[in-house]
Amino acid sequence: MEPPNQNGVEPATVDRFSRFDRCHNKEVRQRLRRMVVTAPAREVRESKLWMPDRVLFTPAALDEPWGQQIKARVQGLNLPIEELPRNRLTGLRGEDERETYSISKRTLAIVTAPPSQFKLSPIPPSADWQFHIAEGCPGHCQYCYLAGSLSGPPVIRVYANLPQILENLGRYERPGSETSYEVSCYTDPLGIEHLTGSLAECIRYFGTREDGYLRWVSKFSHVEGLLDLPHNGHTRCRVSVNAAPVSQRLEGGTASAEERLQSLRRLGLEGGYPLGIVIAPIMPIDNWQEHYTQLLDRMSDLIDFDCDLTFELISHRFTPGSKEVLLNWYPNTKLDMEESSRVVKRNKFGGMKYVYDAKIMRELRQFFERELAKRFPQGKVLYWT
Ligand code: SF4
Repeated sequence: MEPPNQNGVEPATVDRFSRFDRCHNKEVRQRLRRMVVTAPAREVRESKLWMPDRVLFTPAALDEPWGQQIKARVQGLNLPIEELPRNRLTGLRGEDERETYSISKRTLAIVTAPPSQFKLSPIPPSADWQFHIAEGCPGHCQYCYLAGSLSGPPVIRVYANLPQILENLGRYERPGSETSYEVSCYTDPLGIEHLTGSLAECIRYFGTREDGYLRWVSKFSHVEGLLDLPHNGHTRCRVSVNAAPVSQRLEGGTASAEERLQSLRRLGLEGGYPLGIVIAPIMPIDNWQEHYTQLLDRMSDLIDFDCDLTFELISHRFTPGSKEVLLNWYPNTKLDMEESSRVVKRNKFGGMKYVYDAKIMRELRQFFERELAKRFPQGKVLYWT
């Protein structure tokens, strides 16, 4: 008999499960859950669910049935609720940017999405369209992508008019050809799912669509509530991971990379979802080959079963605007944002960002493409940027 693999499961057993799993058969998945719970090779300390200090509801949000559903969840968690007199969020600013940041990151606001949110924008290369169920994130990543995209205090806003947001998406579907929608551009939907239930609702909605496909990505790990949903193969669940020195030093308030990968394993094995891994932001830190090799090895230990798997590779970049915001939020950051060691890349709208030079980009790209192909011959790299 072949020795058990690192997950304590005999290879032949994994193959048998993988064949079953491809059927998206719920009964088989439940059997799998009883037999292959998680990969036990490494002990992981479970990250805590984020609990805001206060939860604000606007009057318009409370008029929405989905807003009431969120209120019931929040009450169930005994979190302090404030019902605002007007549909505006005020009183979130502190004495300085740091204090504003601190107040905001402890505040959840339930509001309604403004009309502008019903006109969708394309989001290449990730998906055809982006839509938003929330804005802001409870994490504290020192390179956070939201720094350059969202304005005002980084309070976590959740939209109470979710049914209308979902209903609007159908207008953008191309009948007869797959249309993809990204829901994680302005938030980490899993990081707040225990408070909203909105990601599960999106997954259910896309499970009923002919041509619509959902994509989400997270640095959090509590996926229990997503495992039994009728997704019909129309949702791709992704985790974003990085080499240990980046993850441990720069990604405060998130789940560890190990936890994220373990969760992805569960989403594949127990949930039967298509999967994705986003490696981002890739940085040529000291001994980067060694650190990223360790990450890739662990990815291959945990995603060791037959599944629909994609990769997205994103090198670190910043803009003058995002640098300014990030330095206000994290004045002592060790994140390298030295313009003189980068090159400027301009987009067609005149915006600029600082990226690594062509030689570094080539080295990084070749390394990841080669090493991923070795470990995941069936996996598909969607893009490098
Ligand atoms: Fe920003 Fe993503 Fe980190 Fe949240 S998890 S703080 S959105 S980079």
